[in-house]
Amino acid sequence: MKQALLLIDHGSRREGSCELLSDIALMMRGRFGLPIVHYAHMEFQEPTIQQGFDACVADGAEEIVVFPYLFGAGQHIVTHIPDRVKQAASLHPGVAFRITRPLGVHQKIGEVILERMAESGGDVARALQHLHPSDAPFRYCPRCREALQPRRMKANGPELQACRSCSFVHYPDPKVAAGALFMLDGGIVLVRRGIPPAYGKWVFPGGFVDRGERVEAAAVRETLEEVNLDVEIDRLLNVYSYEDSAAVIIAYAAHVVGGELQAKDEALDAKAFSPSSIPWNDLAFRSAHDAIKDYLAHCV
Ligand SMILES: [Zn+2]
Repeated sequence: MKQALLLIDHGSRREGSCELLSDIALMMRGRFGLPIVHYAHMEFQEPTIQQGFDACVADGAEEIVVFPYLFGAGQHIVTHIPDRVKQAASLHPGVAFRITRPLGVHQKIGEVILERMAESGGDVARALQHLHPSDAPFRYCPRCREALQPRRMKANGPELQACRSCSFVHYPDPKVAAGALFMLDGGIVLVRRGIPPAYGKWVFPGGFVDRGERVEAAAVRETLEEVNLDVEIDRLLNVYSYEDSAAVIIAYAAHVVGGELQAKDEALDAKAFSPSSIPWNDLAFRSAHDAIKDYLAHCV
C-alpha cells in the first residue's frame, strides 16, 4: 500500500512562517526517504488540508497518515483537524487515512531542548548523562541469555561479569580511538561535538578504531568524516590513557592534502584555531587538552 505523510500545522498570518513546515516536509523526504510527503495549514494560509490531501492522492497515495504538527491536544486536534481531513477524504473514496497523535510530550523533545541550550552555550553535560548511562554493567549473557554475575577470574584481578551457565565472560577492554592534529591557514583544526559525551565541546578530529582497521587509517577516515579534509599522517604525536577512562587515544601529527573544511558527521562546527585562540576551557576531554599542548610544543 503506497503511503503518504501529510503534515498539518495551525497556519499563521505572519509571512514566512509557513516555510518551517515545508522544511520539515523536505527533511522527512530527504533525510528519512519517505516517498510522498505534503503539508497543509489549518487556516490562514495555503495549502489547505484539502489541497494537501489532494496532492498526496495525486502522487499515488493509497493511504495517508496525517500528522498534526502541534504540541497540545486542544480544539484543533480533537475536532477541527479530524473534521477537515474527513471532509477532504470524502472526495477520494478508496483512499484510507489515519491521524496520529500530535507532538505532545516526548522524551526526544526534551533532547531537542537540551541541544538548543547547548548551542547557545548552556551547560547540559550532566543532563545528557541521564540519557546515556554508559557505565551500567551488562546483565545478561549475549550467547545464552542466562544472567551474568560478578566473578574474579584472577586472584588480584577485577571482578568481571561472567555467565552462570556458559563460558562467556565480559572483559570491558579499553576502547582505542585515533585522531589527527594538523594546521590549516595557520590554525589547529578542531570540531565541536554534536553528540554526548562532552556535547558542544571542542576536540581534534578523531574517533574509535574499527576492529581490523589500521589505527593510522582510522585517524585519516575520522578526519574526513568529521571535517571533510583529506590528511596524510606525518608521525605519531603521543598515546593518551588515564586511570579513570576506558579510552586509549592515539594522536597523530598530520598535514592536509585536500578537501575543504566543513563540519560533517556528528559535529556542530569545525574551525581552525590559531595557537593563541585555542578554547582551552571548552575542550572535550583531557586527552584533547594534553594532545593539543604536545602538538603546540613539538610540531608548530
Ligand atoms: Zn552464557
